[in-house]
Amino acid sequence: MNCFRCEKGRLKSRHTTVVATVRGETFPVDVDALVCDRCGEIAFNESQGGAYTTAGSDAYRRAHGLLTTAEIKAARNRLGLTQQQLAERLKVGIASVKRWELGAIQDESSDRLMRLCTDVDVARQHLRELEALADPSVGGRPVEVAIRQPDDSKWPDEHTLSSEGKTPPRPHKATPLPAPAPDVTQAA
Ligand SMILES: [Zn+2]
Repeated sequence: MNCFRCEKGRLKSRHTTVVATVRGETFPVDVDALVCDRCGEIAFNESQGGAYTTAGSDAYRRAHGLLTTAEIKAARNRLGLTQQQLAERLKVGIASVKRWELGAIQDESSDRLMRLCTDVDVARQHLRELEALADPSVGGRPVEVAIRQPDDSKWPDEHTLSSEGKTPPRPHKATPLPAPAPDVTQAA
């Protein structure tokens, strides 16, 4: 195939690094492309174009902590689910699952939902957090919300952490608390 830019070189398929621009961010991606042996122009055939789009999406997803195409497929396959079955579990259309697996970037809430519905460790961690929220005495709350109190009897009525009026949970007795955070100020 002749190069459509210089019209003299030949476009040859080769593995190369191309910059992908996704949502205004640029990522170098290693893909197969048609590269002109004369002017260096880069073009894609249809399957290369699809792979390039997916590679760009995955680079963006990695940078933003989202599941990649391969990770979504792997999570689904690990559970032995079809795309339709995963869609039903997530309460989304099968078209969404198909698009995500082709490289369309899922939003953060969909990403969270996929992890909760496919990853045992994430689901377990979520359950722990829920239990700790529902019952702070289990000691699962993040340590930064706990303030050292010399007089345990004052806990937790007299100190609030935020204007929302939340009281910090009573720390687990068996867990030594870190030094008090220097910047915890009482809300007005
Ligand atoms: Zn050329």
